[in-house]
Amino acid sequence: MAQQQMGNQPLIVLSEDSQRTSGEDAQSMNVQAGKAVAESVRTTLGPKGMDKMLVDSSGNVIVTNDGVTLLSEMEIDHPAADMIVEVAETQEEEVGDGTTSAVVVAGELLSQAEDLLDQDIHATTLAQGYREAAEAATEALEEIAIDVDEDDTEILEQIAATAMTGKGAENAKDLLSGLIVEAVRAVADDDGVDTDNIKVEKVVGGSVENSELVEGVIVDKERVSENMPYFAEDADIAIVDGDLEIKETEIDAEVNVTDPDQLEQFLEQEEAQLREMAEQVADAGADVVFVDGGIDDMAQHYLAQEGIIAVRRVKSSDQAQLARATGATPVSSVDDLTEDDLGAAGSVAQKEIAGDQRIFVEDVDDAKAVTLILRGGTEHVIDEIDRAVEDSLGVVRTTVEDGKVLAGGGAPEIDISLSLRDYADSVGGREQLAVEAFADALEVIPRTLAENAGLDPIDSLVELRSAHDGGDTAAGLDAYTGDTIDMDAEGVYEPLRVKTQAIESATEAAVMLLRIDDVIAAGDLAVSHDDDDEDMPAGGPGGMGGGMGGMGGGMGGMM
Ligand code: ADP
Ligand code: MG
Repeated sequence: MAQQQMGNQPLIVLSEDSQRTSGEDAQSMNVQAGKAVAESVRTTLGPKGMDKMLVDSSGNVIVTNDGVTLLSEMEIDHPAADMIVEVAETQEEEVGDGTTSAVVVAGELLSQAEDLLDQDIHATTLAQGYREAAEAATEALEEIAIDVDEDDTEILEQIAATAMTGKGAENAKDLLSGLIVEAVRAVADDDGVDTDNIKVEKVVGGSVENSELVEGVIVDKERVSENMPYFAEDADIAIVDGDLEIKETEIDAEVNVTDPDQLEQFLEQEEAQLREMAEQVADAGADVVFVDGGIDDMAQHYLAQEGIIAVRRVKSSDQAQLARATGATPVSSVDDLTEDDLGAAGSVAQKEIAGDQRIFVEDVDDAKAVTLILRGGTEHVIDEIDRAVEDSLGVVRTTVEDGKVLAGGGAPEIDISLSLRDYADSVGGREQLAVEAFADALEVIPRTLAENAGLDPIDSLVELRSAHDGGDTAAGLDAYTGDTIDMDAEGVYEPLRVKTQAIESATEAAVMLLRIDDVIAAGDLAVSHDDDDEDMPAGGPGGMGGGMGGMGGGMGGMM
């Protein structure tokens, strides 16, 4: 056994470079880091949320309103902050929307906890209270959820539109919601909705109003040779996960040619091999071949002679989608290609959109693949529309799967905040304070919606609370007028899972951070909080002096 004690000398187990922060300092460092992350996305929340422009070290620009995109592009470099970023990532994976809300709630849970820690409430008591509150909140949400029939197009479109509100896609939200609902329906089956079967093809040029849905797959490539047909009807389709080229030998081999005949022979042999490849494709019965790698000029020539459409350098995600849509089995070499590996489509055609040629594979048997062609004026515009559309696809998918939604506009947060205060009375003791803090924290959503809309958050909250006290569970904030309105009647809906997932992940992350009383880091720890500290609780920044010592820099990429 290793020596445990060396006389009276303390045993040093940490390397000299490591930094250690313990006790209250560790707690407050983590809380500050978490809050800083939340603060950085807060102003993007809701219909009146603003966008942010991110510039990375190579000068690439992203303009976005999307929480998870902001956080993943910001190059956050602090372990506690990372845990809050993970909240957004989980939300994105599970439901596709509500990433900003989840992070903002997590930040507020930490902020509320800070006050209680200052009042000497133990972190484990807080954690316990938060967990109980989260459970009670989830139950309360389920009670006020509204059932949605998956055939109810109107409400599905409203759900799709809510997710796009305040984003670049908003101008065309009627058109896009319709396309999104249609797309989700097309790929839905008994196992749910696999949004991988919905391909979003971004086309720069034209306006978003020209967006459309195509049943089938669109590949952003042209046929390799002009001598190939433009169009194939009732096409048999091969997918090759390799090249139609002659591989250069791996080892540097030198071919010594001593007389011209030999050279000719050598070239003829190569040509024969390439011809053989083209024939193998033709013999299997393919009319179209999608190749992952390259296609030699000579092979192109022979394929064209056979009247085959060949497409090279097809992305693996496109290959996968083509395989699913047409029923083709990708083969790694044409040597292995047989008739059984072929898929089928009613039509394969090269068409032009916005001046670019693309291959449209339409009228597939198993129409479990659709492509949403998104149009937009510039690349930045279209990228942001795409992000909003992805959120929308996520919420429609979630609703089709779960059949439950909530009215939006802060309505659910206010409602469960009130329920939690009642529940807190039954908890008693110090945990009661934690449950109440949780209830307060949830109000950050309607408060932020009001702030971002330039409204007085106190007035808005007072009105909302009184509407909910009177039993109006769907009363939310109209960010445009500042009135308290019935969000159910307004058609502003979000899936139940968006809210339950946000509460679950935010609580887990907050609890995890609060329970940490020791941070041992191998290198430097750096995080700064947002420059404007006005929103921090009184005594926050000032009182934190000691704990904040090591937190300069960080989040450099944020604007
Ligand atoms: P997140 O990343 O959390 O989805 P968003 O910026 O999309 O952030 O904002 C979502 C919030 O905006 C939700 O609370 C939602 O209810 C609210 N919201 C969306 N549309 C409206 C609307 N028309 N009126 C009021 N609130 C809305
Ligand atoms: Mg959203």
